[in-house]
Amino acid sequence: MSQTILSVRNLTANVENTPILKGVNLEIKAGEIHAIMGRNGSGKSTLAKIIAGHPDYEVTGGEIIYQGQNIIEQEPNQRANDGIFLAFQYPMAIPGVSNLDFMRVAYNAKLKHQGLEAIDTFDFEDLIEEKLEVVKMKSSFLERSLNEGFSGGEKKRNEILQMALLDPTLSILDEIDSGLDIDALRIVSDGVNQLKTPEKAYLLITHYQRLLDYIEPDFVHVMQDGKIITSGGKELALELESRGYDFLDDKSAAGVGR
Ligand code: ADP
Ligand code: MG
Repeated sequence: MSQTILSVRNLTANVENTPILKGVNLEIKAGEIHAIMGRNGSGKSTLAKIIAGHPDYEVTGGEIIYQGQNIIEQEPNQRANDGIFLAFQYPMAIPGVSNLDFMRVAYNAKLKHQGLEAIDTFDFEDLIEEKLEVVKMKSSFLERSLNEGFSGGEKKRNEILQMALLDPTLSILDEIDSGLDIDALRIVSDGVNQLKTPEKAYLLITHYQRLLDYIEPDFVHVMQDGKIITSGGKELALELESRGYDFLDDKSAAGVGR
C-alpha cells in the first residue's frame, strides 16, 4: 500500500476573522494526482496557501498531517525544505533578483537543510540547464529578473522549472493553466508528467476541466463554500464541464457528498 503523503482533517480557517475553510478533508497518497475544482471564491487557493504555511490565514481547527507530522505550527520555509512546493496562481515579480540567483539560493537552502554542502555557481548552471529542458525554456531566461515582464505562460513555466529543480514530494499547482495558450499548456503539462514518480504526490487546483485532459488525475474533488462537497474519479471533471457548476447546488442542497 502506498504511503500517505498528506492528510487534511476537518480543517477550518479564517481570513481576517471571516471563516473561509469550513471543514476540509483530503487524503493524498504517494503516486497520486488529485485535482480540486470549484467556482471562484470557493476556497481553493486558501487551502493551497494554508498547506504551504502562508501567514495571512488563521487555522481555527483540524489538522494537516504531512508525512506523518502535524505541520500546522511549522514555518513556510520548513515545509518547503521538507518537500512541500506551491506554484502560485499569481507568481510574484522580484525586480533586481535574477531568476538564476533566486533558484540557486532556493536550491542551496534545501541542500543546507539536508545537511549537504552548497553547490557552486558553475555546477548549478549545469544542473539548471538540464532542468530547462523539462519546460523548454532558453537559458537567457535565467538572466532576467524573477518574473519581471514574464508573460503569463513564461511565469507558469518558470514555476514548473522551480519545481523540477527542488524535486518536491508534494507539489501543489494552483491554476497553473490560467492564462496559458494551448502550446504553453502542453509544455507545462508535459513537464509535470515527466516529473511524476511513484514517490511523489500532486494537488492540482483548476477551474477548468481542460487541464485534466493533459494531466490525468486519479481523484477529482469539488470545493464549494470552503468544503469539499463531492469527490470522484476523472469523470467528475467531465460531468462538471458538461453540466456546469450549477448542478452542484442541487448536490449540496441534498447533502450529497462529504
Ligand atoms: P478560489 O481560489 O477558490 O477562487 P480563494 O481561496 O482565493 O478562492 O478565496 C476564497 C474566499 O476567501 C474569497 O471570498 C476571498 O475573497 C477570500 N479571501 C481569500 N484570501 C483572502 C485575503 N487574504 N484577504 C481577504 N479575503 C480573502
Ligand atoms: Mg484561486
